[in-house]
Amino acid sequence: MAELTLDGVSKHFDDGGDRIVAVDDLSLTIRDGELLVLVGPSGCGKSTTLRMIAGLETVPSGEIRLDGTVIDDQPPTTRDIAMVFQSYALYPHMTVRENMRFGLEESTDLSADEMDRRVEETAEMMGIADLLDRKPSDLSGGQQQRVALGRAIVRDPKVFLMDEPLSNLDAKLRAQMRTELQRLQEDLGVTTVYVTHDQTEAMTMGDRIAILNDGKLQQVGTPIEAYHRPANRFVAGFIGEPSMNFFETTLEGDTLVGEHFEYPLSSESRSALDDVKQVTLGVRPEDVEIVRDRSDDPGQSDRESDGHDFRTVVDVIEPMGNENNVYLWFAAARDEGPTVEGQATEERRTFVVTLGGMRTVEAGEEVVARIPEETIHLFDAETGEALRNRVLDTSGVSIPNR
Ligand code: ATP
Repeated sequence: MAELTLDGVSKHFDDGGDRIVAVDDLSLTIRDGELLVLVGPSGCGKSTTLRMIAGLETVPSGEIRLDGTVIDDQPPTTRDIAMVFQSYALYPHMTVRENMRFGLEESTDLSADEMDRRVEETAEMMGIADLLDRKPSDLSGGQQQRVALGRAIVRDPKVFLMDEPLSNLDAKLRAQMRTELQRLQEDLGVTTVYVTHDQTEAMTMGDRIAILNDGKLQQVGTPIEAYHRPANRFVAGFIGEPSMNFFETTLEGDTLVGEHFEYPLSSESRSALDDVKQVTLGVRPEDVEIVRDRSDDPGQSDRESDGHDFRTVVDVIEPMGNENNVYLWFAAARDEGPTVEGQATEERRTFVVTLGGMRTVEAGEEVVARIPEETIHLFDAETGEALRNRVLDTSGVSIPNR
């Protein structure tokens, strides 16, 4: 049993008189055996959090507990926590065997035979048994990464801390190691905090993910919760690739009025806004439907127009093979005349839609884009707080309300 709790943890640094708040009142519980991914943009406080848990940084305010015992004052070697660094941090003058043994010598009082046995067993499990007598400089990046992991695993710690351990690997190896790490963590059942700035890694690896920004916890939940029920605009924009589209609007009556479009709301969506007037409308690229023209959409003739279909023009297409990212702009913007026509592409208000790879559209083509109301997210434009998230068919998926 190893449950790790951060309770109101804060940390700041002084940088030539400037006070930098690295971690701001962070409270988080990592459950026994769980793989929790701490994710956020560069500088949001991920590494500092991990280093405080490991004992490499002091905890000036708040508490860190392991199974209910405060560990803030314990030196790193007695914490029963093993850390894997992005740089692997292997000792260059030691062989793989010596690197793996070293951690054991520092943190346990096992007999020499027992240490050798453990090193060999772990090396076998990690597929590096034939590398035991090599030096790190004679290993590939992937092999060094395995050794760094092996060195953590051999200690049989209560908690693993991993700081971007895959970021030095090429894309293919990274994807392979991601799966391998997940399987390993599940088999070992060791409580793990995994830090990354890569939202794909967070989505694919985490039992739960905790999203940080500016040292503050934005949301903690399963990847699916964070994706479909983001707590705020930051999370909505950070999780998902391509990013959610956002449109700034003002509520007039029951209609959201944006720069080049108007979006009427149902009474259910309208009531979620209370008295908020400045509203950010969000929609994920895969939720926008494109019909080449109205006759292409078989449901169209039977459907009452609900004001959620928009004339748009295809700006740029990014073919990805399995799908296409299509950038559109509202035709209304083009109709405004030469000033808009004359603008550079990036200045136009484009939004992105993902289409199946076999669907083709042409740059410059006019298409009707439909933004179904059940898919939209509404945020308070001032605070960023989510006021309404998309409606989900939750049959078979457990997605509790916030
Ligand atoms: P990255 O993904 O780039 O590693 P991070 O989310 O891990 O970023 P931290 O390394 O925890 O972020 O840094 C959080 C903030 O604290 C940053 O603004 C950083 O510049 C600052 N910081 C971290 N360590 C120190 C230090 N020793 N002295 C001064 N400022 C620091």
